[in-house]
Amino acid sequence: MTSFAPSANIADLRESATIAVSARAKALRAAGRPVIDLGAGEPDFPTPAFVLEAAHAALDAGATRYTQVEGILPLRQAIAERASAVHGNAIGAENVVVTAGTKQALFNACFSLFAAGDEVLVPTPGWTSYYQMLALARAVPVAIRGTREHDLKVTVQDLERAASPRTRGLILNSPCNPTGAVYSRRELTEIVACAERHGWWIISDEIYRAISYDGEAASLLSVVADLDRLVVVDGVAKSFAMTGWRIGWSIAPPAVARAMTALQSHTTSNAATLSQHAALAALSNAEQARQTVDGMVAEFRVRRDAALGALRAAAIDVIEPHGAFYLYIRAGDATAEDPEPGTTFARRLLEEREVAVVPGIAFGSPEWMRMSYAAPADQVMEGVRRIIAARIS
Ligand code: GLU
Repeated sequence: MTSFAPSANIADLRESATIAVSARAKALRAAGRPVIDLGAGEPDFPTPAFVLEAAHAALDAGATRYTQVEGILPLRQAIAERASAVHGNAIGAENVVVTAGTKQALFNACFSLFAAGDEVLVPTPGWTSYYQMLALARAVPVAIRGTREHDLKVTVQDLERAASPRTRGLILNSPCNPTGAVYSRRELTEIVACAERHGWWIISDEIYRAISYDGEAASLLSVVADLDRLVVVDGVAKSFAMTGWRIGWSIAPPAVARAMTALQSHTTSNAATLSQHAALAALSNAEQARQTVDGMVAEFRVRRDAALGALRAAAIDVIEPHGAFYLYIRAGDATAEDPEPGTTFARRLLEEREVAVVPGIAFGSPEWMRMSYAAPADQVMEGVRRIIAARIS
């Protein structure tokens, strides 16, 4: 038998809990158990027809070969144009690197900006992969906990308290996965001013920005005066129901974009050529894109309201989401006997009631758990009924 000791690079690596929960739900389903999967966040809508048509056309035209590592120029230009409209000043294709999903853009940024011993502030709860990506870069993720009164968002005071001479940056994510909380423009302006005072890098993960229920969620591009110490990442997965196409991107100062391109040239090279053409279609047809996004957001809103109403009526503590498609639910107080009530509850929910959710420990808060409402409405509501039943039984 092969004996394998993981290298020091990955000795402490944990697999992605969001992916693992979904894999477990799929395995149980395959084994004949009718599991309701409210685990991984993946829109349950099909990729829009106009995008599929463009992909077919690109395939017919022979879009099957390598592209530039950083992505085809028309796609980078389309991304840059959208970013310029938000920023107010010109952002060019040289600022953009197209990646295999937004996850790769985040990894490129973490790996290129931070190294051994650098501390990076991560508002917590935060998406599970931030902590692991920073650790892979041998940087130190510093979890900054937001308070319940503030919907678990962090304030400048929280950041200042956690800052040290080794702090090099911060990862922002608004709308937030897992809470759905949205930072106001004022809050972001204060945080940017704090980062500028300290000379920190900001990585702003804006993958959920299009899914917002109370007006537009602010992009950091519209808050900063220049791109000097900012990397914004986004992608087509959530807003165009294109998760499997794996197209994300980063917008960064040109020197950083070049460094990330060099890194990517040794890891994956270009994102899939066909997918780049599909993403170009998604970004180039403003009217159809708007209809797609509006339709999904309207449906997510109906589900959010129904699920939130039912949970609140059952006196369950839940953060009101203003964006994204998650509900963050408090499972109980951590005690010496049960330090991870969110994990205990999620396990019981899956085994006894066949509902998959993600334990909050994956996002740095063991008292909580996350359910996605990017699933058909009847399943979301059945899932909520079972959560309530499990809670009060
Ligand atoms: N980002 C989504 C989630 O949090 C998809 C799975 C993943 O990549 O984490 O569920």
